[in-house]
Amino acid sequence: MLILVTNDDGVRSLGLRSLALALGELGQVVVVAPDRNRSAIGHALTLEHPLRAEEIKPQVFAVDGTPTDCVNLGSHGLLSRRPDLVVSGINRGSNMGDDISYSGTVCAALEATLMGLPAFAVSLDTDRFCDKDLTVAANFSKKIAEMILKNGLPKETFLNVNIPSGSCSGVQLTRQGKRRYGESVVSKQDPRGRQYYWIGGSEVGFEDIPGSDYNALQQGLISVTPLRTNMTNENTYAEMECWSFDSMLGEN
Ligand code: MN
Repeated sequence: MLILVTNDDGVRSLGLRSLALALGELGQVVVVAPDRNRSAIGHALTLEHPLRAEEIKPQVFAVDGTPTDCVNLGSHGLLSRRPDLVVSGINRGSNMGDDISYSGTVCAALEATLMGLPAFAVSLDTDRFCDKDLTVAANFSKKIAEMILKNGLPKETFLNVNIPSGSCSGVQLTRQGKRRYGESVVSKQDPRGRQYYWIGGSEVGFEDIPGSDYNALQQGLISVTPLRTNMTNENTYAEMECWSFDSMLGEN
């Protein structure tokens, strides 16, 4: 088995190292990860400048690009062939609800899925890694990897795994939840008297939705959410069939 491991926290992240070590028990692991922290870079792809990949250790490549770049470079150049599995993480901090579209960790798995490769993302709900939590996250990632390598995943589908910190009392299959946002832009003056802004001030939590990723972690459970790449809203599509689009093209 050939497994591509990436992340968005950067190639030196402890989470990435733990993940690569655990998955190494299942096959050959090649790490292709950003050379620095690229958290919240989403699904960005670098098109306007060349990318460099430096092999900093055997089978560990540092790329001056995004997680999505790393999946592309890994699958189309650095690896000897297409990987059997792509795993992204272990991210420092959870990736749930509305936040997943910002997440470089989750979007690396999304990118792999768009390329037709089985993939999952794994994140740990913590600001600071500790060995015990990393061991739980890495071991569980290995189990999920084994399952996917054995059974595959449905087309256009990938998994988003979130692990609670501290004690972990079980695993729950979940749906993407919903964050509640507050006053999230802070506006202040710099020492030269100019205004500046900082996004992501206060956190006000999440909506209480039974069966959601947030609720699972709040209960100390590992959350596993199947996600899809195709965002078409089928219900709205059906409702919009009565919109007379042709008439919108006429004068006035
Ligand atoms: Mn990150």
